[in-house]
Amino acid sequence: MSRRFTLMVIPDSGKRVRRVVVSHRLLVSSLVLVLGCALLVGYVVTDYFRLQLDQQQFNQLLVENSEQRQQLEQLKRDLDGLRNEMIVLAESDARVRESLDPSTKNPVTVPVGIGGALDTNTADMTTLQKQINNLRLAIDLRRESQEEVRNLLNDKHSLASATPRGWPTKGWLTSYFGMRSSPYTGRRKMHEGLDIAANTGTRVTATADGVVVKATTEPGFGKVVMIDHGYGYRTIFGHNSKILVKAGTRVKRGDKIAEVGNTGRSTGSHLHYEVRLNGVPIDPRKLL
Ligand SMILES: [Zn+2]
Repeated sequence: MSRRFTLMVIPDSGKRVRRVVVSHRLLVSSLVLVLGCALLVGYVVTDYFRLQLDQQQFNQLLVENSEQRQQLEQLKRDLDGLRNEMIVLAESDARVRESLDPSTKNPVTVPVGIGGALDTNTADMTTLQKQINNLRLAIDLRRESQEEVRNLLNDKHSLASATPRGWPTKGWLTSYFGMRSSPYTGRRKMHEGLDIAANTGTRVTATADGVVVKATTEPGFGKVVMIDHGYGYRTIFGHNSKILVKAGTRVKRGDKIAEVGNTGRSTGSHLHYEVRLNGVPIDPRKLL
């Protein structure tokens, strides 16, 4: 059984009433068609707007991308500059080392990868990261190297200030370093220092930086001072009339430590000055 519907179109005034008879099936199909069209239109419209939105985001991303590219290029230029500074530093470092210690040749140590030119056309993050790592390595090397240079300088400085130099008092040489006839026994005997004649009370000064290890009175040297300077150096000052330091006193070159005298086994007012290197007396005249 097929139901039918009658649609009546009734105009406003006196015209004929129109009747349309439609089957149930036609009505349902028409409704489905209309609904389908509406859905299609809706989909197309939303899709269009979504595309528009995507395009906007895409454009924005393009802008951001270009900005980031520029920043990357700038980073590369900065990195290039840093690397060049690093090379200059390494070169000056090598020169300092050579001047400090010409015997050991220290080549300019520029780490691998620091030498080549950066390709600024390709903004490659991996390359950039590699360059940064190399730079970090170079900085570490430089830091170590500077530490060594500083130690070298310290050593040089300490050795220089620990090596006896100059006259310990104002006077004139009366007896040299070496074999001589003993003024007491007449037998030939080793004289292990210099005798410097000077008036009693003349200032006696340290000839290098160091620490007093002995300040005492002995039968032979009388009032005697011994200073340890490190690096194997020791100095001895004998026959003083007065001692102005104690064992343990730190002294600098030029510090007054005693006054010339005639104590101990001595035949007149003078200073007996001795320099020992690793326990062996050496001729102090080479160091005056
Ligand atoms: Zn002497």
